[in-house]
Amino acid sequence: MIGLSGARIVTPTGVVEDRVLMLDGDRIAGLLPEPPPGECEMHDLRGGWLLPGFIDTQVNGGGDVLLNDRPTLDGVRTIAAAHRRFGTTGLLPTLVSGDLALIAATLEAIDAAIAAGVPGVLGAHIEGPFIALAKRGIHPAASLRPLDEEALDLLCRPRRGARVVTLAPELAPPGAIARLRAAGVIVAAGHSMADYETSRAAIAEGLCGFTHLFNAMTPLTSREPGMVGAALDDRRTIFGLIADGEHVHPASLRAAIRARGEDGAMLVTDAMPPVGGSAQSFDLGEAHVMVRGGRLVDATGTLGGSLLTMAQALRNARDLIGLPIETASRLASGNPARFLDMDGQRGAIAPGLAADLVHLDENLRVTATWIAGARNDMGEV
Ligand code: ZN
Repeated sequence: MIGLSGARIVTPTGVVEDRVLMLDGDRIAGLLPEPPPGECEMHDLRGGWLLPGFIDTQVNGGGDVLLNDRPTLDGVRTIAAAHRRFGTTGLLPTLVSGDLALIAATLEAIDAAIAAGVPGVLGAHIEGPFIALAKRGIHPAASLRPLDEEALDLLCRPRRGARVVTLAPELAPPGAIARLRAAGVIVAAGHSMADYETSRAAIAEGLCGFTHLFNAMTPLTSREPGMVGAALDDRRTIFGLIADGEHVHPASLRAAIRARGEDGAMLVTDAMPPVGGSAQSFDLGEAHVMVRGGRLVDATGTLGGSLLTMAQALRNARDLIGLPIETASRLASGNPARFLDMDGQRGAIAPGLAADLVHLDENLRVTATWIAGARNDMGEV
């Protein structure tokens, strides 16, 4: 048993102080008022905050690796390690629209990474290519394709980890969302021209959430609620937010969170290779994406993912949105775990859940992480 003391601990029922968090191997054992008698290895964290490790469901790259360029076990390992320094203890490496051979290679690489026990890898996010040309953003136009029988067959095959697919519901054949859902796939809508009614019909068919709410989808207006309206109106789904202050105005982030309460939103990074790396540009299809003034843009000024880390997203949730730390933590861990149907396994500091943790100093900068009880002191400070 290991005991962690000295930090304020964020639990599902609030912040607790003067408690010892007990870890038993790869699991959380519980909170105690003082260390138990007998065999227990104590660690004093000397202040700061202990939170459930962050879960990021949208990570295109990190550590100078773009998943699309390196859909291999080694590529996945590099991306997961780069994000761990910023408090991410669970992630879905995310493939930007590619052909079916690339999707197959990616799903196999992520399966292999999970089988090999690469820390933090929870599954795959296949973002496109079943998306709308008019809302493709940085996705290569040449890669877009219909969600046909061959694609459905590939996506529905059993895998070790979670599978998220982002698609445009208006382009999905009737019954395709229900079929994906029946196969255990988590279906999210995004890069889409779908209106409110089409979005509602997709939810009725099993749609689980929305990918980077507000960006690359139909907006909420007076007589056309759009996809944004559907996401804010229906309480069964969870939407991702890129809280970097560039993709969405803080007031829009705040309004969306207020509309759905604490349970509707999850923080994602949409991170690209420069996160945890040194590269200042990369290529994605025909696009050359560059770091410019703290953002990632192509030659036309289109945003091409983000430079965001989960630790910065958490700080932004506090400083830009004005959320208390326990709510920000829920958006960074508990809600993404629920989106992935993993809330019985991880995403909160509660007995029996995975010992996936992040320790932050008083400025909310990462000092250490634990994945399945194994500590790593590579952080931001
Ligand atoms: Zn996207």
